[in-house]
Order: sequence, then structure tokens, then C-alpha cells
Amino acid sequence: MTVDVLRRPLRDLRVSVTDRCNFRCVYCMPKEVFGKDHAFLPHSQVLSFEEIARLVRIFVGLGVRKVRLTGGEPLVRRDLERLVAMLAPLDVDLTLTTNGSLLAPKARALADAGLKRVTVSLDSLDDETFRRMNDVGFPVQRVLDGIAAADAAGLAPIKVNMVVRRGINETSVLPMARAFRGTGHILRFIEYMDVGTSNGWRLDDVVSAREIVAAIDRVFPLEPQGPAYRGEVAGRYRYRDGAGEIGVISSVTQPFCADCTRARLSADGSLYTCLFATEGRDLRPLLRGGAGDEELREAIESVWTARADRYSELRSADTAGLKKIEMSFIGG
Ligand code: SF4
Repeated sequence: MTVDVLRRPLRDLRVSVTDRCNFRCVYCMPKEVFGKDHAFLPHSQVLSFEEIARLVRIFVGLGVRKVRLTGGEPLVRRDLERLVAMLAPLDVDLTLTTNGSLLAPKARALADAGLKRVTVSLDSLDDETFRRMNDVGFPVQRVLDGIAAADAAGLAPIKVNMVVRRGINETSVLPMARAFRGTGHILRFIEYMDVGTSNGWRLDDVVSAREIVAAIDRVFPLEPQGPAYRGEVAGRYRYRDGAGEIGVISSVTQPFCADCTRARLSADGSLYTCLFATEGRDLRPLLRGGAGDEELREAIESVWTARADRYSELRSADTAGLKKIEMSFIGG
């Protein structure tokens, strides 16, 4: 066991249950690349709920304590609550990241199946900006209804993730902060990242965590908080007047690779050890080839113990051109 693995144990698993999404976010799945002719994974290549549950059980045996269901958009996968019910008996923090547009009718069933919490991606309260960023034809209210339904179903604390991109939605930062203050929901601002190869990322389009915090602090004074647990990605700040807290995820300007304990499983069964990975380890041949749990466990462990990812610390003009896996394929 290397010093690095001892320092960065496997604790957090992101499970992408589909590579499909009903949004076309400019920073993740731009419509110019993911157009109507885009070839998504054929059903036969997507892991079944039984296969996912088997792999997650093995990951939990290796130390995973938090399982996040992601996508694409996980709620476009039918009967997701069935998978949640399979995973709920495992002693993990079972959560889901969604764009919220399909959440309102599903929240109760997901909570009843055993889901603990949700994180909802929302990049603006302004309908025009929201539509422009996500290429959707419906208003923000649909997502806000999803958040309200999740709250009513007890899927709390709810985190709301906002990716801030200069020239598109930085003017939404303060209205979002104002709207979510005092609600108990934790608004988290995410620096725009060079994920995948299709979003045309430029450093100039990044609004830094420092700028975001300063902009809010000028209106709603903030004070920094320590991390809630080791490996927490968000820098935490609380409102001095007690109206709750915010988070900032600063992968570009203040990387946090040193404490990264996250692995990712794609919808077709490949294991990735970094959000900016260029390749993964395909577990499906073992899974569908009759391998036992021990063999699968050894395969996962061999990948994790060989891990040396530190992309955000090494980001440079040279790394920007790497053929990175799309975030929509391995989950944010
Ligand atoms: S860049 Fe990779 S190693 Fe660094 S924090 Fe992100 S996922 Fe972890």
C-alpha cells in the first residue's frame, strides 16, 4: 500500500447510471458535440442494476462510505428507485446528483427506496440564462419544484451546485445567494473546469472562488469554516448573520487532489480514478465473464493502489489538449 493510497484511501464512489441527459449544458454536454445524431451507449453495454449493485458491494468492502448516483442525468434511467433499494441496505451515504428537471415526481419514491440526500445542479434563476446554459425549453421553476419536492421528501440537506462561467452567468451569483440564504439548502459555486474535450474551455472564462466569495461577502458578510470531513471538495463559508452556509469548489485555482478519495464507475462498467482521466479500466469483461467477487476486488484494488492522479495540480497549457473522458460519461 503506497503512502499516496494511505493518504488518499478509496472512500467515495461516483456511479454513472447512464451517459444520456435531457440537458445540453454548455460546460458539460454542448449541443454542438452532443447533437441529435450523437451515439449514446447501446442498452446492451450499460450495466444492469444487479451488476451495479454487485460492484458497489465490492467497493464498499474496499472502504467506500459514500455512493453518489450520477450520469448524464440519472433520472432519465427508468426505475432508478429499484437500484436505490438495492443499495440502501449497504451502510453508505447514498446520494444523487441531478439537474432537478425530473425530480418533482420522483423525490418521494427515491426517498422511500432509501436515498439519503440529493445535489441539484442549477446555474441561474434567470430563465433566459438557464435556457441558454442548458439548451432546454422549460423554465427554472421546474427545477425549483424538484428541490421543493426533495425537501418535502426529507432528502436533506440539499446541495445546489452552480457552475460559474464568465460572460454567461456570473451575474447570477448574487441572486442565487440571495434566494438560497436562510433556506437550509447549501449553495455551492463551482469553478468552470476543463472537463472532457468538448466545452472549449479557456482559463479566461473561469471566475475564481476568491472572486465569487468576495462578491457575496461585499453584500452578505461571510466567514470561512473548516472542512466537515477529510476530502470534502468544497471550501465552506457561513453567513455571519446565521443565514446558513455556502461552498466553493475551486478545482482550477485551489486544487484539492492531495485529499481526493473519489473513484468513478461509468455506465458501461469502467473504473476511472480521476475526473480528468484519459482512460479507465473496463470491469465488464470480468463482470460478464464469470469472475468471482475476489477477482473483481483484486482488479479494483490494483487500479486504486496504482493511482497517481493529480490533474488539477498539474493543469497547464500542455494538459488542456489531453483526450480526457467526458464528464457526462463519468459523472461530475
Ligand atoms: S483532479 Fe482528479 S485527482 Fe484531483 S481532485 Fe479532481 S478527481 Fe481528484
